[in-house]
Amino acid sequence: MYKVTVIGSGNWGSVAAKLIASNTLKLHSFHDEVRMWVFEEKLPSGEKLTDVINKTNENVKYLPGIKLGKNVVADPDLENAVKDANMLVFVTPHQFVEGICKRLAGKIRADAEGISLIKGMEVKKEGPSMISNLITKQLGINCSVLMGANIANEIAMEKFSEATVGYNQNKSAADRWVQLFCTPYFNVTAVQDVEGVELCGTLKNAVAIAAGFVDGLEMGNNTKVSLKDLMAQKISSPFPQLLDAAIMRIGLKEMMTFSKMCFPSVKDSTFFESCGVADLITTCMGGRNRKVADAYARNGGKRSFDELEAEMLQGQKLQGVLTAKEVHEVLSNRGWLHIFPLFSAVHAISTGRLPPSAIVKINEEQLSKL
Ligand code: NAD
Ligand code: 13P
Repeated sequence: MYKVTVIGSGNWGSVAAKLIASNTLKLHSFHDEVRMWVFEEKLPSGEKLTDVINKTNENVKYLPGIKLGKNVVADPDLENAVKDANMLVFVTPHQFVEGICKRLAGKIRADAEGISLIKGMEVKKEGPSMISNLITKQLGINCSVLMGANIANEIAMEKFSEATVGYNQNKSAADRWVQLFCTPYFNVTAVQDVEGVELCGTLKNAVAIAAGFVDGLEMGNNTKVSLKDLMAQKISSPFPQLLDAAIMRIGLKEMMTFSKMCFPSVKDSTFFESCGVADLITTCMGGRNRKVADAYARNGGKRSFDELEAEMLQGQKLQGVLTAKEVHEVLSNRGWLHIFPLFSAVHAISTGRLPPSAIVKINEEQLSKL
């Protein structure tokens, strides 16, 4: 029998628990109960979030108005939440994963399998390290990933979407994850390319920041996306194309180039799964990264991302600004800044070193100084 614990209970973590809980009730090889580890906090009412979730069956802070399923049990004790589980779903903002893994080392079942829904990476001396790899290394477990065009609030309302499971060796584990997540409104397929799937989900957040800048500067949709060129893959030197400023197209190109330069095994075909182009478009149109970057540009860069995030997202976290910083670290370590003008500009703007308008105007001289 399989027993599932969801590690994380934010906006997407709560929706993941809801999806899974609807399936464990139907699938005989799974225990009905789904534990959800909650980073405990006090609500303005003075009550603990965990108590309120267990009383109302709703995550009133991160996913208000949505019933999670009576078989979801919120647990503020990380060790207790994982001790019986052999299927671990990691879904926290990526900056907290390393600390969580340290607390979990030696505390999980020997037969546990993991899946990461986390969009982000870590930068080590040797280069970028994906979160699934960090989980594998720290906990000694196989870890697949699930990424896709998945705005959590829409899936919570059972609007149709697709997602991609990425795996490297263990196809039977990947099939089990597909079975656990698939519903009539959430269609999941598996591809053998863990890094490719994870890099798509991670890097598109930095592109979404650029899309938000363009919106905030009121540059219009032609700047944001040139689908005709995207489909035709008319990509040559990235620098003059930046001046043409088709953010999504250039973003996709930089995502592919970065992924393949860092992880040569990444497959082109992965970018055309839900985790690739579809997630890029969704996030650039309707995600939190886009929304906060839009506000940043409208304020002329005078209010920081941290301030806007706290005010606009009420505890939810952006991943794009941090990802742009991590990408920048890799690019400057390896002397690759000139190959990635869009990623470089996103980092320079989000840290206040260039104005938002530089998103379409960054030049060689500025790039050389980044
Ligand atoms: P969120 O941004 O809604 O919520 C932030 C979470 O972090 C909360 O649960 C909060 O309790 C927790 N937290 C705060 N401080 C913490 C700490 N010190 N240690 C541990 N946890 C802490 O979270 P989310 O939307 O579930 O995002 C999790 C991951 O899922 C991210 O990588 C995100 O990119 C990805 N994702 C999100 C969506 C979406 O639409 N929300 C969709 C797909 C993927
Ligand atoms: P945001 O974090 O920008 O909302 O993106 C959510 C997402 O990853 C959609 O797939």
